[in-house]
Amino acid sequence: MEILRLGIDGQLSVDPSDVETASLDFGLLTRGQPLAVLHPVSAQDIARVVKAAYGSNQGMTVSARGHGHSINGQAQTTNGVVIQMSGWKGGNKPPRPHVWAEERYVDVWGGDLWIDVLKSTLEYGLAPKSWTDYLYLSVGGTLSNAGISGQAFNHGPQISNVYELDVVTGKGEVLTCSEDENTELFHAVLGGLGQFGIITRARISLEPAPNMVRWIRVLYSNFSAFTSDQEHLISLHAEPSNQKFDYVEGFVIVAEGLINNWRSSLFSPQNPVKISTLFPTGGVLYCLEIAKNYHESTAQTIDQEVEFLLKKLNFISTSVFTTDLLYVDFLDRVHMAEMKLRSKGLWEVPHPWLNLFIPSSKIAEFDKGVFKGILGNKTSGPILIYPMNKNKWDHRSSVVTPDEGLFYLVALLRSALDSGEETQSLEYLNNQNRQILRYCDEAGIKVKRYLPHYTTQQEWMDHFGNKWDRFYEMKMEFDPRHILASGQRIFTPTFPSLSNMPS
Ligand code: FAD
Repeated sequence: MEILRLGIDGQLSVDPSDVETASLDFGLLTRGQPLAVLHPVSAQDIARVVKAAYGSNQGMTVSARGHGHSINGQAQTTNGVVIQMSGWKGGNKPPRPHVWAEERYVDVWGGDLWIDVLKSTLEYGLAPKSWTDYLYLSVGGTLSNAGISGQAFNHGPQISNVYELDVVTGKGEVLTCSEDENTELFHAVLGGLGQFGIITRARISLEPAPNMVRWIRVLYSNFSAFTSDQEHLISLHAEPSNQKFDYVEGFVIVAEGLINNWRSSLFSPQNPVKISTLFPTGGVLYCLEIAKNYHESTAQTIDQEVEFLLKKLNFISTSVFTTDLLYVDFLDRVHMAEMKLRSKGLWEVPHPWLNLFIPSSKIAEFDKGVFKGILGNKTSGPILIYPMNKNKWDHRSSVVTPDEGLFYLVALLRSALDSGEETQSLEYLNNQNRQILRYCDEAGIKVKRYLPHYTTQQEWMDHFGNKWDRFYEMKMEFDPRHILASGQRIFTPTFPSLSNMPS
């Protein structure tokens, strides 16, 4: 009742379908039960609700929800309000992206999807520099984690490409922050898992957009040849743009994974190379995925530049798959896969995903123990693997990465199916995830989880390591009652009426 009287310009909804949507996420593994859903049109709408929650004796929490593409309920809340940042309802709308063409940046609403940011900036021939593989994610959602893809080796994660933020803190204040203003809040919010404030505006750095991409895949049966080549390619980050790729990723193909791999579209049936004939006895192949941006005006040099770079690599020589496509289509490639999976009813299924950052010194051991060991020859989704340069990550942000100059992302992006096949069941995949984490622990592979999920504060303290004290201090300063993003399960909300209750 209190929040209904706040005079909000957006829409506060208790519509069962709104509440149902806000109760779930892409993972389909947990469910929240919010009291209401706010569709805000301004930072002030959000500030009013957060202020009311901050002053409330009843114990109300507030969780920003971007596109709800978390796995473990990170944007959910129970007994609180979900602020639905993306996908507006009603006539009023939040501000549209504003491109500052000369300054080469764009101001966007925290709930804007990256696909819409791209479309707006392309109207000016510009585009953000650092991406995620999938663009139907909100700006606030990815900046609360890091935002990574094959451009991160070169430009750093998305959080390294932000100039300024407007944030509603857990006390309901609206603050602008940047390198020069409210600096502590700025760094805390980036990679801060929504703990310190709700991002309502982000100023994102832009570059001139290419219009074409040459997208190349090559295969390896030898893991160390694969990772040496990946590491060589990302070591070129400081070279002029015509002497390096713009995107470096890779994925693991275990024998049965080919069919399930979202990314197998490049290996078309017309292709002269039969991939199955390349499988070594261990049953694992590695695919290096690289891309070079170009403009029609530079099209005449692209062949030479690519040839020069490929000459230094040690892939299976008969396994080069190349395609040229529009820049937009390249960036939006996972959406095409989404459409296919949706049409087969394979998108809205549980996703027990596991994303790990692995120190490069231990990646060979991880390969032996996990890709060639624990996984067997079965997988139910893509397994990405690519290295990144730590010096492109700002150590002042809240995100934690391994203690080495190079580290890998390994993303096990698997879907659980009710097919009767044991190895595709949720229980099986969850057990396998636990087995992988146990293996890393026992083998002394000091992984850090990306898009982390823990249930006890001790686990969170271990995750943050020497960043924990700072994280805690920032929480006490900007969200002292632990109202925000309680779905991350890092802090328990504190309210006077709750602290008087018998435990
Ligand atoms: P939500 O799930 O809605 O929210 C995530 C967290 O951020 C919650 O704690 C929420 O409270 C908080 N939050 C949301 N909005 C705000 C805001 N405005 N201010 C403050 N906090 C906020 N990640 C990558 O880095 N690279 C990838 O290539 C990549 N690909 C993906 C592909 C798919 C198909 C999926 C499902 C996920 C992928 N992700 C990737 C992970 C993704 O970046 C995170 O799950 C991200 O949080 C999703 O954004 P969202 O808008 O759906 O956030």
